[in-house]
Amino acid sequence: MADWSTAGSCQYAGGYFPLLALKGGNMGMKIDIPIGMMVSDVVRSFFHKPATRRYPFERKEAPEAFRGKLIWNLEKCTGCQLCIKECPANAIELIIIDRASKRFVMCFHADRCTYCSQCVFNCKFKCLELSHTEWELAALSKEPFTVYYGLASDIEPYLEQAGESEA
Ligand code: SF4
Ligand code: SF4
Repeated sequence: MADWSTAGSCQYAGGYFPLLALKGGNMGMKIDIPIGMMVSDVVRSFFHKPATRRYPFERKEAPEAFRGKLIWNLEKCTGCQLCIKECPANAIELIIIDRASKRFVMCFHADRCTYCSQCVFNCKFKCLELSHTEWELAALSKEPFTVYYGLASDIEPYLEQAGESEA
């Protein structure tokens, strides 16, 4: 347990101030902070805008290189499955409904993804990207972490069939 106590004094801005020592207990840590410096920081903070943002009420756009939710472009996909082979987290599946007519469903497991971008770099057809606008993926249940991409006319029968085989 850390414990605060005054310990000694130090010269600060031309005067002597008592030191506040934080003893880190078992961690063996000791930090000396002049009380005068602390008080002036507290007073100054009353007249300054907070350094932090009141998220989620105030938001700032994420930088373009930010790695959020995986987005897949069905139109460009050839079904080569290189992305699946390269994914170290088994976070993507490609369900082939009909290869000849390019009917694929992609299943993305957001809870397994490490956002390493390996799949994006390896897709020769540039069908994958990690979105910098969709990144707030936290949820209270497991369902939103499994995302299906593709045509609704392919996803719905696939999910019905998968549900029947599980029952
Ligand atoms: S690597 Fe690209 S083209 Fe190949 S299956 Fe994945 S997304 Fe489709
Ligand atoms: S970003 Fe990495 S972990 Fe996530 S799906 Fe792509 S390869 Fe897998």
